[in-house]
Amino acid sequence: MKKLITSALPYVNNVPHLGNIIGCVLSADAYARFCRSMDYEVLYVCGTDEYGTATETKAREEGISPQEICDKYHEIHKAIYKDFNISFDIFGRTSTKEQTKIAQSIFKDLDSNNLISEQTSQQTFCEKCSMFLADRYVEGTCPHCGFENARGDQCDGCGKLLEPEDLKDPKCKVCEKTPVLKQTSHLYLKLDDLQEKLKSWVEKSQKEGEWTKNAIQTTQSWFEKGLQPRPITRDLTWGIPVPRPGYENKVFYVWFDAPIGYISITAKELPNWKDWWQNPDEVNLYQFMAKDNIPFHTVIFPSSLMGTGKNWTLLHHINSTEYLNYEDTKFSKSRNIGVFGDDVKITGIHVDLWRFYLLANRPERNDSNFNWQDFIEKVNSEFIDNIGNLTNRALVYLQKNFDGEIKDLPLPYTHQAFIEECKEGFNEITASLEAVKLRESLRQILAIGNMGNKFFQDMTPWDKIKTDPEHAHATVSVLTYLIKNIAIAIEPYMPETAARTFEMLNLPKLKWESLGSFSGLDKHIIGNPEILYKKLDKKLAEKFRKKIQR
Ligand SMILES: [Zn+2]
Ligand SMILES: [Zn+2]
Repeated sequence: MKKLITSALPYVNNVPHLGNIIGCVLSADAYARFCRSMDYEVLYVCGTDEYGTATETKAREEGISPQEICDKYHEIHKAIYKDFNISFDIFGRTSTKEQTKIAQSIFKDLDSNNLISEQTSQQTFCEKCSMFLADRYVEGTCPHCGFENARGDQCDGCGKLLEPEDLKDPKCKVCEKTPVLKQTSHLYLKLDDLQEKLKSWVEKSQKEGEWTKNAIQTTQSWFEKGLQPRPITRDLTWGIPVPRPGYENKVFYVWFDAPIGYISITAKELPNWKDWWQNPDEVNLYQFMAKDNIPFHTVIFPSSLMGTGKNWTLLHHINSTEYLNYEDTKFSKSRNIGVFGDDVKITGIHVDLWRFYLLANRPERNDSNFNWQDFIEKVNSEFIDNIGNLTNRALVYLQKNFDGEIKDLPLPYTHQAFIEECKEGFNEITASLEAVKLRESLRQILAIGNMGNKFFQDMTPWDKIKTDPEHAHATVSVLTYLIKNIAIAIEPYMPETAARTFEMLNLPKLKWESLGSFSGLDKHIIGNPEILYKKLDKKLAEKFRKKIQR
């Protein structure tokens, strides 16, 4: 099966923080790199989500057009993901004519299958701004949990989806005036008519694709409440025109068009995009996101596609994380709390160490926490003291005592047993990555690193070399093979570290098929060993904590 990989499209008008980065693009990147190393046919797609009220309002604030806002922030996102070595095959955007064309054609298919209805309703309207206040431009108190800064589309306190009129004490976010209700017509997608069909698909897909637990639970809770018709249009100008008379002043609601972005971003770059998106027999779709995005990907987007009656590639595996918090509180751009993508460069800490920490602390079952001190301690103790130390120590030893030459010698039992144990570990790593258990697999790689350090200690080559130099040479040769194998396994997580290790080994970049092999390099001479990373100074924690809070 081909692997089609997406990460949730980041909304264009924000600078992504570390939580956004681990929640989608970085996790999907690690998996995409693994798939490429396995020689699977892979397409990794992402891009900026650009339509909607937030962009329109930001443009008004900055006195430029929505398109200019999107152009500016699209470049910011692109640059940050480049700094993080995110290996997109395509990084596009939703404000394109392909997006309009595909979203409109999906709408027309839904309409001709009698899945669109029209309803007139009262909606929040700000008389001072003379506009309807969609979703996030009404703020107030959450009716479920009492959180005071809940947005009209979703509460950041409890994560529940909301409608603006649900809020207590609603206020226009632009001018703070209390909005009024005003009559308007909108088109609705009849999710209720699709419930049965969707449900049988979910039951099958969640098993076959081994969905994450939070995705299964969230989806289940939507079914328990019963699906309701959902509005797919909004009174706005920055969006996709609705091809229906009477809707000239309205556009599609961003939740309807945003996931279609995955398809249109592919279509803009690849003429054969249907080989990916309308090819469910040959393509498995893997989607990465944080938990707030789950219902859009397990309920709403698949319903929109299913309702067209066309043969779309639907979600196979959903990988939804919990949240990463910052020093025990929430990341917030408006309050400038947290570490943002563009801060990472100024720390001067190598991006692979950031990737390592974020992936090792990926919030899989529970929310996790970014904390400067923990970051520095874990990078030092779990990576630099472990794999960093092993790489340097073993390769320097091989170079100094055996002119850097690997030897395939007859191995004592201890060495054979060690190799068997390592091979078992590498098999587990492969199985974990196949199941997209990214954190587990990284933990297993670190465990093998620790085994390597212990083996070096236990075999005491510095003593053996005096009495049995072959034994010592066999020990460091086995460890050199181990370092090669670790480089292959860690490449999805730390690509530059892997590349540097291969260079020190004087080997080309090796793929997954070479993982677990401990022979075949007899008489190979390694390159020049260097220290992978210097340990991070503990004092940096305090320095960066202050420096980043500008
Ligand atoms: Zn709430
Ligand atoms: Zn207003």
